[in-house]
Amino acid sequence: MEAKPVLALPEGLELIELEQMDDLLVITVASTQSAPCCPLCGGAARRVHSRYTRRVADLPCGGQPIRLLLQVRKCFCEQGACPRKIFVERLTPFIDPHGRVTRRLFQVVQVIGLATGGRLGVRVTDRIGIQTSRQTIIRRILALPTESAGQVIELGIDDFSFRRGRTFGTILVDLSSHQVIDLLPERSVESAVAWMQKHPEIQYVSRDRGNDYAQAARLGASQARAVADRFHIYKNLVEAIEPVIARCYKEIRKDLPKPAKPKTPQVKEWRPAPAPADERQRLARLATNQERFDSMIELQKLGIPQDEVARRLGVTKRTVQNWNKRGSCPGSRRRHKRRSLFDPYAAYVLKRWKDGCKTGSILYQEIKAQGYRGSDQQVYRFLRTLKQEKVELPDLPILSRLSVRESLWLIARPKDDLEADERADLKALCQMSTELTALHLLVQAFGQIVRKREGHRLDEWRQQVEESGIAELQRFVKGLERDKEAILAGLTLAYSNGVVEGKVNKLKLIKRMGYGRASFPLLRQRVLHAL
Ligand SMILES: [Zn+2]
Repeated sequence: MEAKPVLALPEGLELIELEQMDDLLVITVASTQSAPCCPLCGGAARRVHSRYTRRVADLPCGGQPIRLLLQVRKCFCEQGACPRKIFVERLTPFIDPHGRVTRRLFQVVQVIGLATGGRLGVRVTDRIGIQTSRQTIIRRILALPTESAGQVIELGIDDFSFRRGRTFGTILVDLSSHQVIDLLPERSVESAVAWMQKHPEIQYVSRDRGNDYAQAARLGASQARAVADRFHIYKNLVEAIEPVIARCYKEIRKDLPKPAKPKTPQVKEWRPAPAPADERQRLARLATNQERFDSMIELQKLGIPQDEVARRLGVTKRTVQNWNKRGSCPGSRRRHKRRSLFDPYAAYVLKRWKDGCKTGSILYQEIKAQGYRGSDQQVYRFLRTLKQEKVELPDLPILSRLSVRESLWLIARPKDDLEADERADLKALCQMSTELTALHLLVQAFGQIVRKREGHRLDEWRQQVEESGIAELQRFVKGLERDKEAILAGLTLAYSNGVVEGKVNKLKLIKRMGYGRASFPLLRQRVLHAL
């Protein structure tokens, strides 16, 4: 049996024994290096002083935890000048000098820790046969290098929130390698300036339009070109035009003819008191049943057999038998108990309705003459039910159908991305207001500049805004003026904060897996060394 290849032991270690102890596979291994070297002077030693056994945990094998019993030697250093007289032979890089675990186990725990964090990490290691603890996993993560990566030419900077949005940190990303290069525990001008001053090689700083990082870049990296993130610029534009649309809505509504008021019923006491929908449905169903019931009686009078009657009425023969037995149609009895007055006339009213008489007051008078003692309200309620069943809802006018916000996105999204019905809505909107038409053209033109990075057309666009007379857009242009250089760079150069925002999302994911308890140094390590 040759187990050594399975265990992948390095050169210089020989397998002596395999022993199963409960859940543990204990493997005895001896060092067979021919001449161990003194760690101090590097001289080879031939004389062995003594032997002893080290206990070291190793990677699990087939899901079984493994314990290595390592037989190592103590040797005499033979270099006379060397202050070290006796030394223990080293097994690096397989095991560190005082390590309790093999290097490969150390690294696996580290990787699991980076991917899952402490708590979840323990559950993962448990399942695959690695005995460790949450504290150990965290120690392994913190053992990774903590210094931030070296040189950065193109820097992306943004903030992120931790501790449930109460405190903010700063994330720094290398825009060319797409690597997170550092995390700062605060969002302040000072800390960002201090960081940038240590990196005089920075040539571009891409950031959002907030003041903090703009100022930080001016102070900390004055040699670099500031780039305002173009998608933030577009977002600012979209925010700026929402009030314009709300205002246009108001103006359009003012000019629209007032919608005709619904005809008031001719009976004065009547007040619209909508009955519960199910009650209306019941009334309609009852009317239909009552009609069927009456038809059944008539057909039977003509001597038509029951199964034929059932077929003509569209009910089962059993129903016909039941109705005959009861002497009334279903629903009518319950109705009689509660509000019985209208029921006996429902079928009559339905018949008149179908004949073309739809005036509630006339129908009311007619059934009153037949002995109806109930209110006219019930007649109207019944008629409303019938109307709702037949008449389809007309198309709502566009302003009622589209909220200001929905219109905002019709105007702000690239025109080519709109569906056919959205285009039709947009066209209808623009036809109602010249200001909306102008706004749409200007927003689309700016969108073009943003997407195609045509910064050189910004002045031309600014001129058009001046001529449009739309105050909100003019204010937006003034805002651009204050951050002009960075905005021009953002609308021209390829840099954007998209990569940074992707990293912030990844950070959020890591944060959530850490159950929101991760301390900042741990979070920083997990983000810097994220897999
Ligand atoms: Zn030595």
